[in-house]
Amino acid sequence: MCSHKKTELLSKVTSLTDDKGRVTGWQLDIKLQCVDCKSFFLFKTDKVGVLFDQPAASADKEELRIPLTAPSFGAN
Ligand SMILES: [Zn+2]
Repeated sequence: MCSHKKTELLSKVTSLTDDKGRVTGWQLDIKLQCVDCKSFFLFKTDKVGVLFDQPAASADKEELRIPLTAPSFGAN
């Protein structure tokens, strides 16, 4: 059985735009994969889907989708 000691973090950043094409924020998607057995770690959260104000996992819990802003956009 694999002890999952070597891992690789996979990430992707997508910019979010409004209907006029202006950037309104970003979404960071992350997955953590075991290098040896290739299985993905599962995020412990009850939040599922894509939420605009808090992190949420994919239905299989393998991906965490994190909404982001930038300092010049303010915290909200
Ligand atoms: Zn493993």
